[in-house]
Amino acid sequence: MVRENLQEVEEKIADACRRAGRDREEVTLIAVSKTKPVAMIEEAVDSGIISFGENKVQEMLEKQKVIDRQLQWHLLGHLQRNKVRQIVGKVTRIHSVDSLRLAKQIQTEYEKKNLVADILIEVNMAREESKFGFMPEETEEAIRQISGCANICVKGLMTVAPFVENPEENRPHFQNLNKLLVDINRKNIDNINMSELSMGMTGDYEVAIEEGATFVRVGTGIFGIRQYLGNCETSSKS
Ligand SMILES: *Cc1c(COP(=O)(O)O)cnc(C)c1O
Repeated sequence: MVRENLQEVEEKIADACRRAGRDREEVTLIAVSKTKPVAMIEEAVDSGIISFGENKVQEMLEKQKVIDRQLQWHLLGHLQRNKVRQIVGKVTRIHSVDSLRLAKQIQTEYEKKNLVADILIEVNMAREESKFGFMPEETEEAIRQISGCANICVKGLMTVAPFVENPEENRPHFQNLNKLLVDINRKNIDNINMSELSMGMTGDYEVAIEEGATFVRVGTGIFGIRQYLGNCETSSKS
């Protein structure tokens, strides 16, 4: 099932790139494997996927331990400061930097190991009460503060758009995240030159690609619906 789903997603990504006049290489598909078993991850790897997204540190580390392959792991969910120590050197990107305190903790822990954390700043584009992330107008100042952290590289911006029936409803949020990245880059902040936009999920990744996404995060569309045993979803506050 994973292989067939991936074929379909891949076709849709290619079509969206064509419509937008973009190279397929500009977009990385992250297979969001949270709550899903290792066997399904391996099926995706056999179909050519190397980038996986997880929401929980513990779950990600357990999967890393048993999967004997060189993969890229993206941390997507809200990250608690007391968990940062465990992920140093173990993630390709932290997509969900949503507070200055978290950034400071990342700086502290990565400095201890003399490594640089590649991060994205999470922005709450739709201003949803239930979501984490900086408000759009707070984002530039946050990045100015983080730009002083020698062990952090701000690669770009990320958003979790609202759950909607019609993906067109999220197009303005994707457009605005792209604009925000361009605006902040224009300020010529020292050490800041962002190029990455993590936006778009199963329901709206084609629209996100049309609006400039460089990472799309697709879970359900690849692995099927998730069944939660307890509180697994950490990308929203509820
Ligand atoms: C779960 C999750 C996804 C994937 O969601 P789907 O709708 O299943 O594609 C993407 N991004 C984040 C931050 C998530 O928490």
